[in-house]
Amino acid sequence: YTAKRNRLGIAVYDPEADRRDSQELSLIGELRRAIDEDELVLHYQPKVATSNGRVRGVEALIRWEHPVRGLLQPGDFIPQAEESEVIVPLTDRVLKMALEQHRMWRDSGTVLPVAVNVPTVCLLDAAFPDRVAAALSACDVAAGMLTLEITETSIITDPVRASAVLTRLRETGVRLSVDDFGTGYSSMSYLQSMPLHELKIDRSFVRTVTDSHGGAAIVRAVLELARALDLEVVAEGVEDEATLILLGDMGCTNAQGYHISRPVRAADLITWLGQPALEPA
Ligand code: C2E
Ligand code: MG
Ligand code: MG
Ligand code: MG
Repeated sequence: YTAKRNRLGIAVYDPEADRRDSQELSLIGELRRAIDEDELVLHYQPKVATSNGRVRGVEALIRWEHPVRGLLQPGDFIPQAEESEVIVPLTDRVLKMALEQHRMWRDSGTVLPVAVNVPTVCLLDAAFPDRVAAALSACDVAAGMLTLEITETSIITDPVRASAVLTRLRETGVRLSVDDFGTGYSSMSYLQSMPLHELKIDRSFVRTVTDSHGGAAIVRAVLELARALDLEVVAEGVEDEATLILLGDMGCTNAQGYHISRPVRAADLITWLGQPALEPA
């Protein structure tokens, strides 16, 4: 149980904290059950080319169809899952579901490269690259069809270990993307030494690109950096047409956001793909 100390230094029972702790424990237990009982589902959000609206691929984003609480968003359970070992089987499950979906699309004639979000624990796990390679071959998917999105924050947690794992992942042939780029308060020197393919400009900068000098300046700096290091760029969180057009004009080649499409179920994505392409920016 959780104790807190009163002014005399005597431990007193804190029912509030205790309830919090046991709620988290039961969430983790339930999550283990949810993995076994197939309550986890993936929604897919397209990444498109700013020049012609062509779909470059989709990002898989997890949801939990909870039998009592309804549809839960990642923010409701991923932070707690990442504090526990359950994030490892959860990630393996997400990877398998995304690759199986990719293969089903492919078998019905639509080739859609897929991106999966990777938590810090997996990025620092020397055995992760082999699990990725095994999942690719079990699902019969070419490695180049898979992008792994890694946050800058998790890279700088332990750059030496991260670099070793990224190198092994790169050898398997998957694409590597830095998610939420610009929010890690890092020195960015790691960019030079890591085998990356893509930077995703964090939504916080994209959101302000049309209305503040600051947002536009940061986006310009990231685009410049990406060009110099020969990395692809995706702007995340594009919510309106003006932002999409401005990003295109600035030379940002790819975009993702509610203005293009919200994350949707696999079936709805196919419907969306059938619609006419976005107007060229
Ligand atoms: P992320 O990888 O940076 O994903 C982008 C998040 O921004 C998604 O939220 C997406 O729905 C949302 N988003 C996309 N476009 C817009 C927009 O135009 N405006 C706004 N306001 N939001 C937009 P979501 O699905 O709630 O996921 C949140 C975070 O949870 C993800 O951030 C990722 O870090 C994590 N996550 C999602 N799925 C997984 C997963 O399978 N495994 C792990 N480890 N983490 C995941
Ligand atoms: Mg992501
Ligand atoms: Mg992101
Ligand atoms: Mg984000």
